[in-house]
Amino acid sequence: MNYQYWNEQFEKMPRRDLEAWQLEKLRETAGFALRTPFYKERLAGTGIGEPGDIKTLEDLKRIPFTTKEDLRRGFPYGFLSISRDEVIRLHASSGTTGAPTTIYFSREDLARWTGFVARCIYSTGCNKTDVFQNMITYGLFTGGLGFHAGGEAVGMLVIPSGPGNTTRQFRLMQDFGTTVVHATPSFLLHVEARMREEGINRDRIRLKRAFAGAEPYSEDTRRRIEELLRIDVYNSYGLSEMNGPGVAFECQAKNGLHIWEDGYIAEIINPDTLEPVKDGETGELVLTILCREATPILRYRTRDLSAFYTGPCPCGRTHRRLRRITGRTDDMLIINGVNVFPSQIEEAIMAIKEAGNNYLIVVEKEGVLDKLTVKTEVGPDIFMDDARPLNALRERIRKTIQASITVNPRVELHEPGSLPVSEGKALRVQDKRPKDL
Ligand code: AMP
Ligand code: ZN
Repeated sequence: MNYQYWNEQFEKMPRRDLEAWQLEKLRETAGFALRTPFYKERLAGTGIGEPGDIKTLEDLKRIPFTTKEDLRRGFPYGFLSISRDEVIRLHASSGTTGAPTTIYFSREDLARWTGFVARCIYSTGCNKTDVFQNMITYGLFTGGLGFHAGGEAVGMLVIPSGPGNTTRQFRLMQDFGTTVVHATPSFLLHVEARMREEGINRDRIRLKRAFAGAEPYSEDTRRRIEELLRIDVYNSYGLSEMNGPGVAFECQAKNGLHIWEDGYIAEIINPDTLEPVKDGETGELVLTILCREATPILRYRTRDLSAFYTGPCPCGRTHRRLRRITGRTDDMLIINGVNVFPSQIEEAIMAIKEAGNNYLIVVEKEGVLDKLTVKTEVGPDIFMDDARPLNALRERIRKTIQASITVNPRVELHEPGSLPVSEGKALRVQDKRPKDL
């Protein structure tokens, strides 16, 4: 294998130097954090009142964890550490309408982020001769613009196609000779199925690789996409709280995702005891960002489950690897790559007074894509045999839910008292998708 490095000095940095770099960056980041209203309060009493109070990397453990709840409470500017005038971009977590978790970037922050994404792309063997079709959502979601900038930095011809409309995607692929795409794994399977249905000749498409992420998928799914489309598929992991893509990525050895330790400090903890787990053991990934001044976030509990692979990687990179993410510790659903909390659906239903109190959320596979159905009872004043107002109500509920979560659900209305009454929250969610992770 001919490995290529975007930034060889950092990618192959001896662990000792890497840790020294981390310590320096952690101090810097703590300095930024101490300027934010949130961390000023959170760090009071921890003995960390200035960057110099961090003497070793072990001192990180004196910093309390930060959760998604904290980020929500800090909205809009509680985590901002620089002047608003120096901020040139914001992004937000997918499936939300902007309010709960917003991340700000300075010009330098964007440049650093782009560098990490370019590193990921380049590590798969891409170069300026490639044509890159970015089939993922642009907008507040970080996947679109993040990969777009990374692709341009590598010098590829970037086609900002966004997702959807497979007929148009095939036309672009054929017209411009697309060699690499970025999409969710479920959309890649969908693309393959549509390709067969539309009778597109694979030999007329020059596709060689895909970056697939934003949702969990198994090794089997990867292999299936690789065989069906005759391409190499690389797992891409990121989250908006940590910039977005460019946090961890598979190299050509395809055995775990290198977490870029010059940009992040990764810990894996037992979510109950909050103590670190041993290497190789599954736990919750906790991340500290070292490459962003505008929105420093320390020890963020990602809720994502993973494990460390610490042995050397044949590619020569010294950064530890994460096992592919196998699930989450909370109730967040990922529907075609979009994060959805059941509470968001509940709020949308409850905002409509004609809707009843009982509901059921069903997620299943329809073909290769995820399909969300929301079953809800109607209120006692609604007659189930009057079709017109019922259809109008169904449509209103559908639109309200879609406006909240951005995913378009199928809505079913049921008579009062006809859905099973559930006491626990989880019972209101039926995730019928095959679990093959
Ligand atoms: P967002 O902040 O909208 O980018 O969503 C981030 C979340 O998407 C992560 O915390 C993960 O739960 C999920 N995610 C992103 N990439 C992957 C991946 N490659 N494998 C599994 N889950 C992923
Ligand atoms: Zn490697």
